This record gives sequence, C-alpha cells and structure tokens, in this order.
Amino acid sequence: MSESQYDVIIIGGGPAGMTAGLYASRAMLKTLMLEKMIMGGQMMTTTKVENWPGYPGGIDGPELMMKFQEHCVEFGLETGYGVVEKIIDNGDSKTLIVDGKELTCQAVIIATGVIPRKLGLDGEEGLVGRGVSYCATCDGAFFRDVPIAVIGGGDTAAEEALFLTKFASKVIMVHRRDELRATKILRDRIAKNEKIEIAWNSVVDKLLFDNTGLTGVVLKDTQTGEIREVTLSGIFVAVGVSPTTSFLNGLIELNEAGYIKAGEDTHTNAPGIYAAGDCRTNILKQVSTAVGDGAVAAIMAEKYIEELKHA
Ligand code: NAP
Repeated sequence: MSESQYDVIIIGGGPAGMTAGLYASRAMLKTLMLEKMIMGGQMMTTTKVENWPGYPGGIDGPELMMKFQEHCVEFGLETGYGVVEKIIDNGDSKTLIVDGKELTCQAVIIATGVIPRKLGLDGEEGLVGRGVSYCATCDGAFFRDVPIAVIGGGDTAAEEALFLTKFASKVIMVHRRDELRATKILRDRIAKNEKIEIAWNSVVDKLLFDNTGLTGVVLKDTQTGEIREVTLSGIFVAVGVSPTTSFLNGLIELNEAGYIKAGEDTHTNAPGIYAAGDCRTNILKQVSTAVGDGAVAAIMAEKYIEELKHA
C-alpha cells in the first residue's frame, strides 16, 4: 500500500471524526483523519461541557478534545491537515482531492460537522473582529464592561450569553419569538442572571457602525414592526448552524437543509461512504451522539472493507 493509499479516510477532526479514528485504527485499518483547521471541531470554542458523562462539574471543551486526540492516536491513527476539494467514487475505491493532491481509500467517513449561520446583514462580514463575532469563547474577553448582545434563542445563544456576563456590563439576548428554544436548565440560569436582559419578539434589522467598528444595532419588533436603536459595542451571532457539505457537490444525497441523508447506521446512498455527527440528519446534536455515530461509522467501514475482500 502506498503512502497515499488508506483503508479509511475520515474527513473532520471533531468528536465524531476522532471516535471513528479510534475505532478504525483499533480495528487495524490504515486510517487517516483529515482536518481543515483546528482538531477538535466545535468543542474547541465551547467553554464548559456539562453533559459529557464522566466529568461531574463539567470539563472545558478544548481540554476534552485534547484527551480525545491523545486517545485516538494511541492506536496508530494518522492525522493531517488539508481541505478536501472533491471525492470521486470509483466504486470499490474512492479518490479524495486534498489541496490538489490525490489520496485513495476504500471507505470514507464524512464527519465535517456544522458552521455558524450568519445574519446576512449589510456590513456583517467587514465587522467580523470589529464588533461582530460568532464565538464567545474566542472573543468575549475583548468586551469588558461594555454592553453587548447575543442574537438567537437556542442552547448556543443561551450558553454564550451566560458566559459573556463574566465580561460585559450588560448582555441583551435578541430573540425573534416570546420563548427561548434553549433547554430548561439554561432558561432558568438566564432568568436568574441579572446582567441578562431579553429583547423578546425582536430581530436585528440593521447593523450600525463607523470606521472604528460596530456601534449598535437597529432592532425590529416582529409583532408590531416597531423599530428602535440600541447602542452596543459588540454582537455575538448564534442563530443556528449549517452543515459543511457543499464540497460533496451532488456525490451523495442531502436533505433540503444540506444535511447528509443517513440513518443511525451512518450509511449514505453511496456504498463505502458514511456520515457521522452533526453533518448527518440526526435528531440530536451533542458530543455523545457524535461519538456514537463515529463508532458506528467505523464499524460499518470495517465490515464494508471485509466484504470487498470476499467479493
Ligand atoms: P438552534 O437550536 O437551531 O437555535 C437557533 C436559534 O436562533 C433559535 O432560537 C432560532 O429561533 C434563532 N434563529 C434562527 N435563525 C434566525 C434568524 N435568521 N434571525 C434570528 N434568530 C434566528 O441552534 P444552536 O443553538 O446553535 O444549537 C445547534 C444544536 O446544537 C442544537 O441541537 C442544540 O441543542 C445543540 N447544542 C447543545 C448544547 C448543549 O447541550 N450544551 C450547546 C449548544 C448547542 P427560533 O427558536 O424561533 O427558531
């Protein structure tokens, strides 16, 4: 087998990819796990993970991911950085074009996760790093003793708002409905936190800025259409996520939101290609479900490769 030939290539180095890597390399398959940017995925920007078993009191996302990585390379998993531009399905083998180079394998596990959605407002892109952020852990400390807002009402928005109260003078949660989507434990913490104010039934209509960066937002009431200006030093956007699947370019079936159509067995409609974690059409997006998917996908890949040998 040449250096660029593998049994399994895993795309994505988050909890799903790392677990797939652990299982596949422990099954003695020559396995490569490719990551685009930072090993660990979304957990690298998560302050505290409270619902991963075995850590009463919680564990920091990056610390947990360091342990995952240490563990998954223990069985010989090869890891590397690179952007997968294309997957070519040749039937019994797959070719991956990674930064212009070709890698081949028998089975592919796609564990590319999701990325934060943008608001899509004028000026948003240019204000990243100058008042607009998608990551409280990364940028929260830049907003000490100033008013800021978190846009969204899900678990991410709730966790970000709570975390940001450590720094900001006030955190306004801007939510388009009159009830948060976040789980009850987070809703209760939000309700008890005096630094958090909620702008119910509100959306950001416009970003206000000058040449130094963001200066505020225009909020619109979703019920009455009423408009009001709020002075802010920063906003943290947490309006959901989109799957990282555009590079697949019609290779396998996706649903209308772009998630890979694959059931609990992680099988896609293409034999030898599996989907694990948040990029799959699963009902729960958690570290624990991603880990389960990673294990299943690796076992499915192992069985597939075994069947190819006897075909
Ligand atoms: P999410 O659950 O999809 O929530 C997105 C929020 O943004 C919703 O409140 C939604 O409003 C709002 N929203 C969507 N589009 C909007 C727009 N254009 N303008 C204004 N508001 C908009 O996304 P998430 O919070 O990123 O969570 C993603 C997944 O990860 C979820 O399954 C979540 O449970 C999970 N997660 C879990 C944890 C944890 O267990 N600790 C932590 C973080 C995330 P509506 O409510 O009106 O739809």
